[in-house]
Amino acid sequence: MIENTPPRRLPVRLPPHSDELLSSWIGRHAAFYSVPPLVMLRHCLPEASSLRAADLLLSSDQEIRLANMFATEPAVMRRMTFANVAQSSHRLISARPTQVCTNCSPGHTEPILRSQLLGWRITCPLCGNQLRDAGRREIPSPFQQYQDAALRGEKLLDDEAERGIGTWISPTDIARLLLMRRIPRPIPREHDLWRFRVLGAIIPDLDRVVAVEQENLPTPAKPILPLHMRPALLAGIAIVERAGPEMLRMLRGHMMGDNRGRFTDAAESMIARARRWKASSQMHLI
Ligand SMILES: [Zn+2]
Repeated sequence: MIENTPPRRLPVRLPPHSDELLSSWIGRHAAFYSVPPLVMLRHCLPEASSLRAADLLLSSDQEIRLANMFATEPAVMRRMTFANVAQSSHRLISARPTQVCTNCSPGHTEPILRSQLLGWRITCPLCGNQLRDAGRREIPSPFQQYQDAALRGEKLLDDEAERGIGTWISPTDIARLLLMRRIPRPIPREHDLWRFRVLGAIIPDLDRVVAVEQENLPTPAKPILPLHMRPALLAGIAIVERAGPEMLRMLRGHMMGDNRGRFTDAAESMIARARRWKASSQMHLI
């Protein structure tokens, strides 16, 4: 029985780096003890299915058991995970590091910091510096002129994901709507209709940039954009949030067919939620 097994503290404990991700810390211990990372994790939590699952969904019981093994506090373990992030924002957490802060990341490959997986960040949550692409190339963002709005969008998503602070609408839901396909007018003759997204109706440069790069944007189900493209989505979210429900209704005019139906259903349910939110926040003020 797991509950009856007394926690065995690891003989050697490597100090965690500031903002290090749990799976990274466990991976470094695995390398130290010369075992695969999953074996290391299951040595601590026999029921664990994967390192990713441990990063995303650590129960308070598991936090306590891990903390015992690693001679630290459960709150420290929790801060190394995404256990505080609502399920609805999990789609914005990438599986691999997509970005890096040259100020705060000590190494090229490890440790991996928690902030390196946050698909809504363009600045480092620790020092505020611009993040850099962790991959192959360093591309300046073609959306520099939207920087102020993008920073507002980053904060909206960050408040929602990290602190559960809401506004009249969920910024994550806006992201999904903005990545749906739209039909541009006039309808172009070329066949690459795939590249036109609702976001392009708000950020006019987007269609051209996507056409030049010949790189499709991600789907609404996984709305993590490459770092240099991300300011466009963040700015779009901030613009919709500030403009209010009428903007969502206006955007519906850029859709056709089934997609228009899906967009309308999603937008109307968000607007209805917004009305209830407004009513209840006014009640609290009385
Ligand atoms: Zn930093």
